[in-house]
Amino acid sequence: MPLMSLEKPPAQPGQVWAHVGQPFVGREYDLIVLGAGRMGAACALYLRRLAPRRSLLLIEEGGLPNEDGATLLSPGVWSALTVPPERRAEAQWTRAQLAGALAPDPSLNLSFQARPLLELAAAGGAGWEAVLDVLGRDPAPTLPAGLADLQALPWARLDAQAARYRPGALALACAQAAIGAGADLMLNARAHLDGGGVGIERLSVTNTHQIVVHETHRLRAGRVVVALGAAGPGTVEHDLGLHTTHARAYRQFPRLNHPSTEQTPTLRAAGLTLRPQHGGFTLVPAIHHRDPAGYEPGGGRLTGVPTGLRRETLEDLVAAMDALPALATGALELGRSLMDVPGAWFALPGGDPDGLPRHEEVAPGVHLLLGGPHADTLGLAVAYDLAATVAGTQQRPWAGR
Ligand code: ADP
Repeated sequence: MPLMSLEKPPAQPGQVWAHVGQPFVGREYDLIVLGAGRMGAACALYLRRLAPRRSLLLIEEGGLPNEDGATLLSPGVWSALTVPPERRAEAQWTRAQLAGALAPDPSLNLSFQARPLLELAAAGGAGWEAVLDVLGRDPAPTLPAGLADLQALPWARLDAQAARYRPGALALACAQAAIGAGADLMLNARAHLDGGGVGIERLSVTNTHQIVVHETHRLRAGRVVVALGAAGPGTVEHDLGLHTTHARAYRQFPRLNHPSTEQTPTLRAAGLTLRPQHGGFTLVPAIHHRDPAGYEPGGGRLTGVPTGLRRETLEDLVAAMDALPALATGALELGRSLMDVPGAWFALPGGDPDGLPRHEEVAPGVHLLLGGPHADTLGLAVAYDLAATVAGTQQRPWAGR
């Protein structure tokens, strides 16, 4: 009998505890994954596929996907333009997973669209071309009128392979597929590391909308994957008394109501990524540095008027207005308070604003998994790599490509 058939996952789907009304009797699990953002959910799915004989519980503080996590707001722009050459094979594998290999079931709709990414710049170099040459090509990417000043941005490079998708749908699809393959899932449960196991607090909401701890459990686990997004490093530091080099940053995604269509390329210029979405653009500002411990995001002021954008983001947008004149119009939604402009905490792997996704065993049997700002392009490969490491698999599907 071929060895593979021994590794077939059990046909039985796992159990789901969505609210405290569903009784839970603590038991030991071989594997517990903390956090069902796209990193944790993907890792859980790959673990079910690579180590189907090991029992697995996925725990999430909120729903699927959680409104507070980075996943829901992540731009969902895949582009290998800035990926170092040695990580390109992983990026390509991630793209193939997103394009359908991950979950061939068409009901799992990630809204995957192959759309080019056009990067514009004031100064060129190797790999850059005159913008008018790029825009004159067949098929040419069409830029909405009035968006960019091509005299201020005469250089361009095109990532013809780029793509867009919805990371929130990815987390949901991965979690559902993991349950289908036998993973258990507990929602509305806050987790922490507790000795060799995991402590959980099952949360419920009172009729005055207060979140309270309904009951607590302590579970033993063979191995734990900490995929808590920006909260991951702080959790292992606090609960295990470790020091890590990782950090986090608060990133906001203001909206630009300048018209876009499904065909509009994703644009990158003056440090910003402009992702076409809902007939306009979601703006993705650069992350410049880690936010200091204890930092509380607060709005900035533009000519004395309060805005919902943090000051650094506002400064970036003002600096980009010459190159992107649409930013200097009423199309830019500034908000009046922080609540008006969507934002989320992101992990910065290695404390680096440009840090790539990674995993590491921070204590025996405890693995920290970090997505961060490049999770759109490399996250799935790193989640797979961790699952393969835990499963003891040597081979990687992207190796040798
Ligand atoms: P990533 O891109 O790394 O998946 P996210 O922030 O989207 O990052 O995912 C982290 C998930 O972990 C979020 O859904 C968040 O609700 C969840 N989470 C954070 N802290 C806890 C906790 N203590 N217990 C359970 N889940 C948590």
